[in-house]
Amino acid sequence: MRIHIVTLFPEMFDGPFKASIIGRAIDKGLVDISLRQLRDFTHDRHRTVDDEPYGGGPGMVMMAPPLFEAVEAIEREDATGGRPHVILMSPQGKTLTQARAFDLSKKESLTLVCGHYEGVDERFIENAVDEEISIGDYVLTGGELPAMVLVDAVVRLLPGVLGDAGSVDRDTFGPGNEGLLQGPVYTRPAEYRGHTVPPVLLSGDHARVTEWRRKVALERTRERRPDLLMDWPG
Ligand code: SAM
Repeated sequence: MRIHIVTLFPEMFDGPFKASIIGRAIDKGLVDISLRQLRDFTHDRHRTVDDEPYGGGPGMVMMAPPLFEAVEAIEREDATGGRPHVILMSPQGKTLTQARAFDLSKKESLTLVCGHYEGVDERFIENAVDEEISIGDYVLTGGELPAMVLVDAVVRLLPGVLGDAGSVDRDTFGPGNEGLLQGPVYTRPAEYRGHTVPPVLLSGDHARVTEWRRKVALERTRERRPDLLMDWPG
């Protein structure tokens, strides 16, 4: 998979994309991430990317021309040969879910556009963006952190990225977990400061462990996220 990110702050991605699982996925060639500086698609001496809003009001608006030119250049250069799916990170988009992350992980190529300031000229959104995605009902200063969240959620679903492919399936919201919350997990020691592990997990009886896990996942979901049970097939 290829992911292109259009940003005013490429340096923000250094840490998150170098470390841990995403860093290893890049090193192994499972995903190719390219960071594109939006200012490289300007033509004036000051490399201007924003201007005052028409009609007045506070803040600055990101101008359409550099944004159009950036996604068009990416489309021309994308090695997959197809047209990358263009996503604008936006608090006004549909909220990212695990199901949407699964769908996006099947795409060959994505372009993520990070907004700033008051937002992005609507003509770019209407004519060059395939979808707007939000990471939650709050407003951040820019689209870089949301883009990192989306990349992390999608890349960990790519084949070969996680050591144990089954863990994606059993995750909270995962298909093997029937879309429910996962339930508690424990590791050694079996007793710590008088706190013990549920005995069934030490029993070695896999059928009972599976049954227990399903029961506590359901209890936890009912308690914390009853909304998930509305479309639950069980
Ligand atoms: N004035 C805009 C509005 O009310 O919708 C908010 C602009 S916000 C300060 C600047 C940029 O941060 C947005 O263009 C978007 O790219 C990004 N952003 C902020 N919150 C976000 C969220 N919850 N999800 C995704 N992107 C977000």
